[in-house]
Amino acid sequence: MSANYIDSYYSRSLHDDHQRAPLTNNIDTSVCVIGGGLAGLATAIGLAERGQSVTLLEARRVGWGASGRNGGFVSAGYAQSMDKIRRRVGDNHARELFQLSRQAMTLIQQRIAKYAIHCGPITPGLLSASWFDQGDHLAAAAAARNDWLGSHYEYWSHQRLRAALSTDRYFDGLYDPDGFTFHALNFSRGIAAAAERLGAQIFEHSAVTSVTTRGHQHKIQTATGTVTADHVVYCCSGYLGWLKPRLAWSTIPVGTYVMVTEPLGERLKTAIRIPHGISDDRIAQDYYRPLADTRLLWGGYVSAVTKPRNLVAKMRTAMAKVYPQLENVAIAAAWPGTMGYATHKMPQIGQLAPGVWYNQGFGGHGMNTTTLGGELIASAIAKADERYRLFAPFGLSFAGGPLAPIAAQAMYWFYQAQDKFRERRDQSAKL
Ligand SMILES: Cc1cc2nc3c(=O)[nH]c(=O)nc-3n(C[C@H](O)[C@H](O)[C@H](O)COP(=O)(O)OP(=O)(O)OC[C@H]3O[C@@H](n4cnc5c(N)ncnc54)[C@H](O)[C@@H]3O)c2cc1C
Repeated sequence: MSANYIDSYYSRSLHDDHQRAPLTNNIDTSVCVIGGGLAGLATAIGLAERGQSVTLLEARRVGWGASGRNGGFVSAGYAQSMDKIRRRVGDNHARELFQLSRQAMTLIQQRIAKYAIHCGPITPGLLSASWFDQGDHLAAAAAARNDWLGSHYEYWSHQRLRAALSTDRYFDGLYDPDGFTFHALNFSRGIAAAAERLGAQIFEHSAVTSVTTRGHQHKIQTATGTVTADHVVYCCSGYLGWLKPRLAWSTIPVGTYVMVTEPLGERLKTAIRIPHGISDDRIAQDYYRPLADTRLLWGGYVSAVTKPRNLVAKMRTAMAKVYPQLENVAIAAAWPGTMGYATHKMPQIGQLAPGVWYNQGFGGHGMNTTTLGGELIASAIAKADERYRLFAPFGLSFAGGPLAPIAAQAMYWFYQAQDKFRERRDQSAKL
């Protein structure tokens, strides 16, 4: 395990552990990015690729937050469903937003190749398994969505799904060949290293304590140094605290969890016989994927408490509900992470005041959307590109301030109850 990252499968399997020094002097730069998760790193590399002078300040290590702890599922779209986005902004606008998210997927793959980022194995394909009996609906929905958005979802019948996954929990499923999984922390660190090669300056262990603005200049203060910049970009997500109250009031920090088993050897195949990332379609869903050494990485569960008691037991119960044959397998690690959500479940990408930008609120769907947000902000600053305004309808809505985590917990329980109700309804329909 690496010093200063939390103990996780990712920190135990770092490709390299180069540490960056803290900021210890006063420097001038064009853009100062606060937060070294993928939102901040994507902004920094996007600016560096456009020849801008950029400095990034990270409180801990790059990728220390959600970006280095997550499931590693990369797919187009957003935390909010495309149907709800369409209802909110209309057909064309929704399609444009979806296309932006697809372009971000392409950019991620291009950067992995161009900068030789070691974040593999990169395993293509994501499967969404249906927890509920939806009759013919799923196949029709996939066809309609492919027509509308140009996506490539394949319908998997119950028989096909059962050949791949030995569980009675699921009915049928949708396979997305465009999605993939990877090592999230090694990707984050690879983007940081590539941004530095392009001239970006990145400081770790450099928590920003205050930002003051005089005229067009922003002074960004850490305990041991100062950055003076024309632009400042807040990318602190669920770890923002009260650094910028206007953003904090609009952010719901939500705790969620991942565990990884010890290598399962042949036992893995008694449950799962495909290499893809798998999730189900409950609102309070599980998601999981086999790793190359036959471990199973399992994610799910949401809570207002950052470190709930009996985390391993809770996660193990969720896994055994789907795969009783894996009950009692040895768990190697389990860890928490905090996501930043907006009430509308869409990214918050925009400008608060001249030169004061924010790039946050990616929720549980941040692996491609952080790259998208970084590109839009970088292009807005470097080229006066106005596409970031496509996110204006999903602004900084009030999220409850200090009460937000409690509201989120209540919402999660409500979602679980809804899922249970649907499950029971399916069961009684079968009797
Ligand atoms: C357990 C878990 C599983 C997930 N699984 C998936 C998945 O499979 N697929 C997917 O698409 N998404 C997933 N997500 C969501 C995704 O990880 C996030 O949306 C994304 O990583 C958010 O990136 P970010 O840069 O906005 O935030 P973060 O990665 O959280 O980064 C914020 C950074 O800001 C820094 N910071 C905060 N305050 C300061 C300060 N004052 N000064 C300097 N730095 C500061 C923090 O130290 C932190 O490093 C998951 C999230 C979690 C927690």
